[in-house]
Amino acid sequence: MDILTTVGTTITIAKRLREISKNIEDAEFKNLLADLSSELADIKLEAAALKERLATLQEENLLLKATAQPADESPIGRKDGCYQFTGDDGLYCPGCWDSKRKKSSTTKAIRGFRLCSVCQAPIGAG
Ligand SMILES: [Zn+2]
Repeated sequence: MDILTTVGTTITIAKRLREISKNIEDAEFKNLLADLSSELADIKLEAAALKERLATLQEENLLLKATAQPADESPIGRKDGCYQFTGDDGLYCPGCWDSKRKKSSTTKAIRGFRLCSVCQAPIGAG
């Protein structure tokens, strides 16, 4: 059930209790009932805020899923000992991809070697 509906129902019950309590001359009972009503009003506000937050997060989640790398992505070839991927002319560290499925870019180093920007491995052209 929707939390706001549930809270709304409990607030109605609290109001009904307040009406009934008019016949009861117990100050402590009335004070507790007032506290309960005020707590319920706070909960209702909090629930509405959480609902809004949830909607925002769901939107973000959808966007992230839509823009995430496909899980079945795999290298299409090798150049200078580095992996290449579809639609991307970067050269990536094969060690990082093979061990962690991370696309780590590489930079040119000396004598035809490239260096991984993450694990610092030298990657040979061989
Ligand atoms: Zn690496």
